[in-house]
Amino acid sequence: QDARTGDGAINIFSAAADGRHHRRLALIESFGSAFDSPGELRLVYQPRIALATGACVGAEALLRWHHPAHGEVPPAEFIPAVERTSLIARTTDWVMRAAVAQVGAWRRAGLVLPVSLNISAANLDEPDLPHRLERCLRAHDVPVELIEIELTESALMAETAQSTACLAALAAAGFRIAIDDFGTGYSSLAYLQRLPARIVKIDRAFVADIETREADRRLIRSMIRLAQDLGYEVVAEGIETMAVAAFLREQGCEQGQGYVFGRPMAPDALRAWIEAERRAAA
Ligand code: C2E
Ligand code: MG
Ligand code: MG
Ligand code: MG
Repeated sequence: QDARTGDGAINIFSAAADGRHHRRLALIESFGSAFDSPGELRLVYQPRIALATGACVGAEALLRWHHPAHGEVPPAEFIPAVERTSLIARTTDWVMRAAVAQVGAWRRAGLVLPVSLNISAANLDEPDLPHRLERCLRAHDVPVELIEIELTESALMAETAQSTACLAALAAAGFRIAIDDFGTGYSSLAYLQRLPARIVKIDRAFVADIETREADRRLIRSMIRLAQDLGYEVVAEGIETMAVAAFLREQGCEQGQGYVFGRPMAPDALRAWIEAERRAAA
């Protein structure tokens, strides 16, 4: 049957969707056992760069899952699925402990590096999240200034009384809060401005094509200006060429992340990378 006609097309597409659905269910079932299986979960760290100087000013912790049978599963595949289950609480808890322990270990070894963590919308519904995080900091002797929390624009828009209180408690405890993937959530900064975030991370979608598209250059220029007028620190994501980095710097964007500077790396690799950068700059 012709795939463009009603029934046939629906069958073809629903069979494909079904296949994806089963794969996702099977994956998520095995995600639960990843916590107890050494080496399946790990964090990698992507450097954040001051565009004016090229210095590394922090890093973003990003979760990696090595499935025993499927190999590396990208977070874009498993995080959204995990977010639909109660496992997201345990996942964020794991990420939080691993990242704070790493920041503590680096600090004891003489590397003071602020690290940002990605937190899901549902985590803001856990009333004890701020306390758990603070306990974790005390356990590893890590000052609160070294931990930043990234929440996506859409997570911040899904406000409930509980999530608003949680966000306020995190900010009051001194955590820096960043609006991640800014520009993708159809919200306005005028709205987001009521929240205690002080950093805006402009989504890679707005950065990727600024070399070739004049319209994108105009758009990002006004995003940077607006964010700065409202008092935000601005970070651009997904910088893949030096030309893009130079353009963003000229527009006054303070910081950036992207493959042109550094990919997400294992902790030891990041430390070696930073030391090499600092030797080169000295
Ligand atoms: P995100 O928080 O916006 O992270 C940035 C993503 O962009 C990362 O993908 C990073 O590897 C990628 N990236 C960085 N520079 C470039 C570049 O120059 N070009 C391109 N094409 N990509 C770049 P990753 O690690 O695959 O993570 C994808 C998303 O998964 C993250 O987006 C975040 O939303 C989520 N995620 C990752 N780790 C965690 C976690 O520990 N917890 C939660 N809740 N979400 C996480
Ligand atoms: Mg992020
Ligand atoms: Mg992002
Ligand atoms: Mg993202």
